[in-house]
Amino acid sequence: MNDQQMKEPFDIVIVGAGMVGLTLATLLVESEFAESLRVTVVDSGNEPRFDISADVDLRVSAISPGSAEILSRAGVWQEIRSMRACPFVAMRVWDADGSVDGPETLCFDAADFALAELGNIVENTLVQDRLLRRLAGHGQRVQFGAKIHSVRGAGDRFLMTAADATPIRPELLIAADGSNSFVRTAAGIPLHAWRYAQSAFVTHLRPEQQHSDTAWQRFLRSGPIALLPLADGRVSVVWSTSDELARQALAASDEELGRMLAQASDFVLGKLSPCGPRGSFALRAQYAAKYALPGLVLVGDAAHSVHPLAGQGANLGLADAAVLTDAIGDALARGEYPGDLPCLRRYERARKGANQLMLRFIDSISGLFANESATVSRLRGGGMRLFNHSGPVRRQVARVALGLRR
Ligand SMILES: Cc1cc2nc3c(=O)[nH]c(=O)nc-3n(C[C@H](O)[C@H](O)[C@H](O)COP(=O)(O)OP(=O)(O)OC[C@H]3O[C@@H](n4cnc5c(N)ncnc54)[C@H](O)[C@@H]3O)c2cc1C
Repeated sequence: MNDQQMKEPFDIVIVGAGMVGLTLATLLVESEFAESLRVTVVDSGNEPRFDISADVDLRVSAISPGSAEILSRAGVWQEIRSMRACPFVAMRVWDADGSVDGPETLCFDAADFALAELGNIVENTLVQDRLLRRLAGHGQRVQFGAKIHSVRGAGDRFLMTAADATPIRPELLIAADGSNSFVRTAAGIPLHAWRYAQSAFVTHLRPEQQHSDTAWQRFLRSGPIALLPLADGRVSVVWSTSDELARQALAASDEELGRMLAQASDFVLGKLSPCGPRGSFALRAQYAAKYALPGLVLVGDAAHSVHPLAGQGANLGLADAAVLTDAIGDALARGEYPGDLPCLRRYERARKGANQLMLRFIDSISGLFANESATVSRLRGGGMRLFNHSGPVRRQVARVALGLRR
């Protein structure tokens, strides 16, 4: 870069104001090199609203300690934590062929890893709301209701057009527009995708017994059911099951639904009373063949989507946001253009392998627990017992899942 070019702020457009796009924008404007950047965020949807006096929103995520660190760096974690997050200190994972008290049950306790907590269950809208406020504090407004409907190559950069038809040619276009990413498709980046024959049914439940700040997950052959603790004593259920059962759960009376979910979770928290909105999401795994082209890069679900059984999707995306911020900072420090491939490839190299490994791991777990063979069931039980006593392996798997590896 010559001196004149270095004085011009470097134009970045982020398409998508989900948790990942907003975290990235906030990390960039909070960074020590913020003055060298002009960051714009656009989103086709409505502005997400969080209201502390309203009921807990349907969509919640398990935020790992590693992600909490990233959100701290963005300056929002303390507020999120104090407003309405539910820390969990233990996890119990067991197979439908066994029981929650059996020797095969995978037990993770925060104290085993010298941590105060294993993670927090947080509403997605709360994370977005705090990030939006932080951005507003920097005079940074996000344009909502702004759908990007055209993206095409223009030299070594991309030209994009929003609904108001104004063409923009940023130095770096960042696709944070989710699993159906328009930007990824328009840029011609191939996608590898497969559908699980499952949907994730979600709602909130009042359990008969206390959740004990524990995340519970039982693997049935049709998919896992997770009961995640909420701050008000309820649990949020994520039931990955056949599309047909998910449809039935959506239509069931409260009483029927409570029975279905209590049976599926083997009454680990006793009877369950539904109390909250319901939703269902078709499940698939996918990854983009490339994360970067000159002038364009993918982050979050636009680059990779995983089955929710390990609660990792958003956590992987937040790690993308942190690593891309560092790569942009490094490029500026070296006098390089952050929109050029050397910088973007450094990000791709750091994240693609890690995301791919997690995707494959989650996919194998899903396949292993879906297998109905009696032999595989015995092997599964033996493997889980072995894992419980595997010391370093167990610690390493947990460190990756907790986002403590970076
Ligand atoms: C049932 C379920 C449970 C889950 N639980 C967890 C969990 O416990 N922990 C975890 O880490 N992850 C979890 N996940 C995954 C997590 O929800 C996603 O990985 C995460 O929300 C992806 O965030 P994102 O910002 O990349 O994309 P999104 O949240 O999809 O945001 C994309 C944004 O882009 C905007 N957009 C789309 N197209 C355009 C366009 N053309 N122009 C402009 N804007 C556009 C959209 O309006 C949207 O706001 C779960 C997922 C499911 C389905």
